[in-house]
Amino acid sequence: MGRMGRAGRSGLMEADGGGAPTPAAAAIKGLCPRCGARTLFTGPVAFAQRCRVCGLDFQSFNVGDGPAALLTLVLGAIIVAGAAVLQVSADPPFWLQLVIWIPVTAIAVVFALRLAKAALLVLEYRNAAREGRIKDQP
Ligand SMILES: [Zn+2]
Repeated sequence: MGRMGRAGRSGLMEADGGGAPTPAAAAIKGLCPRCGARTLFTGPVAFAQRCRVCGLDFQSFNVGDGPAALLTLVLGAIIVAGAAVLQVSADPPFWLQLVIWIPVTAIAVVFALRLAKAALLVLEYRNAAREGRIKDQP
């Protein structure tokens, strides 16, 4: 048992090359699951080809758009319910409903999709890292 007191060097905010981030942090901030650099996304929901810092190939993680359909359904239900409640309780004009819900929908979809895709990629990376490559099986 050595002294582990120096392990907690404040690497919470700037995690460049400081090791793997937690899955939650990586998903929320779009961090590379291997080196923790902020390289996972090139657009709001588009993954980069590979990590610009450590070269991890993001394209090899086949996350796909599986979560998109489910998320759209769930968010759609929530937003329709919200609009219905607002309509019944406050009876706002139709344009006000549009002004409220169009941006809310857009932001919610982008945010949820980004989070889900990043979380899947990070989990896939961690599984692969733990179990190793399964290939060349006789
Ligand atoms: Zn990286």
